[in-house]
Amino acid sequence: MSAASFLMSCSRSADGTLWLGGVRLSDIVADGRIGTPAYVYDIDAIAKEARDLEASFEREPHLVAYAIKANSASLIVRALAEEGCGADVVSGGELELALRSGIAADKIVYSGVAKQDDEIDRAILAGREGICAINVESVEEIARVGARAKECGRTARIAIRLNPGVDAETIDTHAHITTGHDEAKFGVARARIADALDLVAQTPTVRLVGMTSHVGSQITNVNAYLSSARALFEVAREVKARFALSYVDTGGGFGIDYGDGCSVSPADFIRATRALKAEHGLSNLALYCEPGRGLVGAHGVLVARVTQRKVGDREHRWIILNAGMNDLIRPALYQARHRIVPLTAPPGPLGAFRVVGPVCESSDDFGVHDLPEDHFDAVAILDAGAYGFSMASTYNGRALPAEVFVRGGRIEAIAPRHEIDAWVHARMATVPG
Ligand SMILES: *Cc1c(COP(=O)(O)O)cnc(C)c1O
Repeated sequence: MSAASFLMSCSRSADGTLWLGGVRLSDIVADGRIGTPAYVYDIDAIAKEARDLEASFEREPHLVAYAIKANSASLIVRALAEEGCGADVVSGGELELALRSGIAADKIVYSGVAKQDDEIDRAILAGREGICAINVESVEEIARVGARAKECGRTARIAIRLNPGVDAETIDTHAHITTGHDEAKFGVARARIADALDLVAQTPTVRLVGMTSHVGSQITNVNAYLSSARALFEVAREVKARFALSYVDTGGGFGIDYGDGCSVSPADFIRATRALKAEHGLSNLALYCEPGRGLVGAHGVLVARVTQRKVGDREHRWIILNAGMNDLIRPALYQARHRIVPLTAPPGPLGAFRVVGPVCESSDDFGVHDLPEDHFDAVAILDAGAYGFSMASTYNGRALPAEVFVRGGRIEAIAPRHEIDAWVHARMATVPG
């Protein structure tokens, strides 16, 4: 296997070993404090990704609100905060994590179709004036946020999330991760924006500060992103005539290269969006975006040991890992494909192997990969920095995976693999009273 233009964060040295952020991944597998499977993140590369995106705004007022659900590790959120990022949160838990990871309340936006009253209160009461904006996703929610604000004795800043009604083919990503079509539960339909504005005008405890949209994830085509931004900007132009908006927020969804050659960077999306925004006469509004995957996806790997090889007949050969769909669910959930490479590449020919996990589900399957015929004992599943650990579960009684944070060429912090006992304990209900 040759060195490594196909790997964004990893590189393979002359002796055939795989490195991430200046740390040899086989050393992590051998480190008794950590255990496998283990996610390994390159914090420097994540910070650089954020810096490049920040730079693409030049002097335009803006906010990069990192979508914490992609990877909620506090060290990552803190590193992004240090680069100037805010946060997009979708629960009271994520809101608390953002605040405790150094993100100021006025740099936090809060999305989600069904925020609980206590979560809304937490957003309204954060910091001196509440968070930057609660992104309301229905006309009905405006009334509820208004009522909670009254109860809290404050005014709540809100943004209305527009459902731009762009069809799934335009966005061209997996059906489970599009959110901006007419039948999606997300956002306020174009036809109900007038009702939403009337309600805002009648509700003294809410203040409309922004218009927002987010149409899906893993978008690899700038024009698809612009088709929803255009719908948002058209509506924002009308809203601006009536309310003192301070920003428009075109959401996240910037795709990364999972090995199929997406060559668009988050900065490319923003440069095109800035031009479109200027064309719409919105230069006096700030531009916000909400990237998750685009900042972290390419800069994490999931390291796993090979538990077993298995030969069926001539066509069917499996490599069974100690990482499965409970650790990384994207292949099972979205038919996503992640590249898989051995940590130390033995010389000799490659063969086709189906790589699977230990979980008792046929969908616990990472696909067919060309891997060395000769023995190797561990692999890295690439581009696992987003929607990896944050979607992990304990299904099949499996412990949550370890996490390792690499910065400045060394391991900075470790979250060890959870204990099996913790899972057993959590399954024991207690009798009340
Ligand atoms: C998930 C989500 C994002 C981030 O999406 P990515 O594809 O990870 O960039 C942004 N905004 C909202 C409202 C989301 O739900």
